[in-house]
Amino acid sequence: MRAYNFCAGPAAIPEAVLERAQQEMLDWHQSGMSIMEMSHRSAEYVSVAEKAEADLRQLLAIPANYKVLFLQGGATLQFSAIAFNLLGEGQTADYIDTGIWSQKAIDDAKRFNALNGSHVNIAASSQADQYLSVPAQSTWQLTDNAAYVHYTPNETIGGLAFDFIPQTDAPLIADFSSCILSEPLDVSRFGLIYAGAQKNIGPAGLTLVIVREDLMGRAHPVTPPLLNYGVEAKNGSMLNTPPTFGWYLSGLVFEWLLEQGGLAAMHAKNHAKAKYLYDFIDGSDFYHNPIAHPNRSMMNVPFTLADAGLEKTFLAQSQAAGLLNLAGHRSVGGMRASIYNAMPLEGVQALTQFMAEFAKQNG
Ligand SMILES: *Cc1c(COP(=O)(O)O)cnc(C)c1O
Repeated sequence: MRAYNFCAGPAAIPEAVLERAQQEMLDWHQSGMSIMEMSHRSAEYVSVAEKAEADLRQLLAIPANYKVLFLQGGATLQFSAIAFNLLGEGQTADYIDTGIWSQKAIDDAKRFNALNGSHVNIAASSQADQYLSVPAQSTWQLTDNAAYVHYTPNETIGGLAFDFIPQTDAPLIADFSSCILSEPLDVSRFGLIYAGAQKNIGPAGLTLVIVREDLMGRAHPVTPPLLNYGVEAKNGSMLNTPPTFGWYLSGLVFEWLLEQGGLAAMHAKNHAKAKYLYDFIDGSDFYHNPIAHPNRSMMNVPFTLADAGLEKTFLAQSQAAGLLNLAGHRSVGGMRASIYNAMPLEGVQALTQFMAEFAKQNG
């Protein structure tokens, strides 16, 4: 029996998508083989890859002057790729520090600086507020003529989310790993969007990059070709073997999202799920979420128990009740419920029922 899986990533995938993949697993569309056994250059596979891109473009209304790349290496490799492609000789890149993932992006950009005398400027940070809120843009110290401004719209570990899209002169770059496809997005506001697939798209192993065409072709001369956006775009993300299964399965997720009514419909569902859970937490003396209300994540809901000594019991009993992977990130502890697109409202309701019962018995 399938349980409700609240894992932050790799995360739940819609059951209808898994069933479809199961049906197609041994013999994809009378090809006599599974999708995993097929050449990525075959007409069959290319049709799958192209359909996935077309559906993603429809979902996000991606303008024609943006390329979509289907890459490997996770969001983490993009931390470096961004610098290699966009941080020119002697230039400064502005970063907004809102938690662990933005800090990792900052660390990797700094590592690149020695290569060409470029700089990283932390233009704003939530540190003074213990990462419980997003710094208002009026407080940011942006650099004139910065190479780009990088931010993390949803901090997966802290459960901290931006409630605005920053306004910048420099190209805006965003790590959408844990919130892409959760709601409609005005792609034209961004220079580059990237996301590892294993949170809110599909299986691990695929990384999506959506990049404006004018930002390609400026990579540092030593940039490995696999990290070079212009080179990957010219080769249709097939400079080498792409993550074929992840690309295929993500395509099935895109079809599923379109069937659900697209991202406006998903946003309504995601908003309702998150509100249900936060309302329950706020109405309880036993559970607590510390994030400033406007910056609470719709996707990742961290919470603590009144008595941290009860965490092991909470995890054991929730798991036994079919509510999986509720432990917070190993770096912060506590609990965290990740409620991406594939989590139905019923799963959130089952969780709050369990939480209410647990509080009654242990409060
Ligand atoms: C999970 C996550 C990452 C790291 O993703 P990988 O694909 O494992 O490299 C980076 N940024 C955010 C916001 C994430 O949630």
